[in-house]
Amino acid sequence: MKNLYSNKILKNALLAALGALTLAGLGYAAVSENYDVVVRKKNGGYEIASRPLEGLIARDAFETDHFRVVWKKEEETLTLDRIAQIAEETKTIHKDDPLWADRDADRIRLMAANVLYHAEAAHRFFTDRLASEDVKKLEKIVIRLDLTNKYSQFERFANDNYQPQYNNALSIEAGKPLKPRPGVGPWQREIWFRPEKKIPIGEILAQLPEDPANAQIREARAELYPMQIDLAFRNTLYAAFQSRLDSAGYIDSIVRQGGTMLLMEGAFQVLKVVNRVIIPQKFYLETAMVPEIIYHEFSHIALSDYMHPDLSTPVNEGMADFFAASVADSPKLAKKIRAYSTAVGKNGNKRQFFQMELETLGKAQSDYVLGLLWGLRDVLGEKPATNLIFGARKFLTTKDSDIRTGLVTALLRSCETACESPLRDRMLIHQYLQDRGL
Ligand SMILES: [Zn+2]
Repeated sequence: MKNLYSNKILKNALLAALGALTLAGLGYAAVSENYDVVVRKKNGGYEIASRPLEGLIARDAFETDHFRVVWKKEEETLTLDRIAQIAEETKTIHKDDPLWADRDADRIRLMAANVLYHAEAAHRFFTDRLASEDVKKLEKIVIRLDLTNKYSQFERFANDNYQPQYNNALSIEAGKPLKPRPGVGPWQREIWFRPEKKIPIGEILAQLPEDPANAQIREARAELYPMQIDLAFRNTLYAAFQSRLDSAGYIDSIVRQGGTMLLMEGAFQVLKVVNRVIIPQKFYLETAMVPEIIYHEFSHIALSDYMHPDLSTPVNEGMADFFAASVADSPKLAKKIRAYSTAVGKNGNKRQFFQMELETLGKAQSDYVLGLLWGLRDVLGEKPATNLIFGARKFLTTKDSDIRTGLVTALLRSCETACESPLRDRMLIHQYLQDRGL
């Protein structure tokens, strides 16, 4: 009896020691700490609420096993101490810069906690819900806040003075410098968030080649996008999306790279929560505050083993937004995507639809892809459809895959392995695509 008892103590002590050793081997014991983040309410709106950040390497550092949040071009993980320092520095350096007016320690902490909280949620969606072994094996992704540098495939950060970027977000691929030199080495995949910048809507509209508020087009938009955002904002978004004035280097810097109009509405609702009021006639977007934009960027990373995020195409962006909407799991958003799809469906003549929406070029087509993919959930069921669409990435490339041939073929090929009953399901998919003019 006594022996058994002491054996048990010994065994427990050994187990405890082993546990400590394992933790020591990992270098840290994960902790959880509550931080304010932006969350969706049941009614579809947003609020700022306290949530636990789980799996932190330390209570005061914005780093987990999967992500590391850093400030601008810095390499060190953002900590509470560093945030206090940044807030103090900006008070003196940028005291006359309106861009910095509300960038205090509270705001920076909210941004850091928010990107980490939602990036983890997106990561969990792919590893737990989709059981993706590929996402489980991802390297630790660096998330940059407040970075204005353009991306350079030879340098990672383009020169500070070259076209600073605002109001958008993007994912970059791993790469290495053209000429390695001290301080400039290879980099892994990263997600970048730009700071917000308030730009007068009039200035944006003035740079457009033609009047974007053309009455006929506006009517078509109202039918296709049953949204509640202000008409002025909606038209500005369209205007920004429409523009291909790359040489101006201005308009292309104001919205996030690609993505769909449907998810952008959420962005503007977050804006109201974070800023309390929307300044009329000004366009701005703090992308790090918007859960759906964080999901969208992480989805690009999760798809990037086949679909490189170096180019915005309707298929690439529509796929990323399909997963962004799936992670968000909001009935209200789902309803909007369906309403949009139905409006497009009602239109009947797809050729006419694409011509009418040519003004928005790839953007309207990204929405079309999102609606198309979302509808597959009704045909095959939510989980089988999501698995099928994730599998389709293996047959897609960013550069060469269009909707009509590339996406259709990829879905049917993915079905061969991902569908429960490939023969039956391929027929269902065929029928569904045909009904939608494909
Ligand atoms: Zn994108």
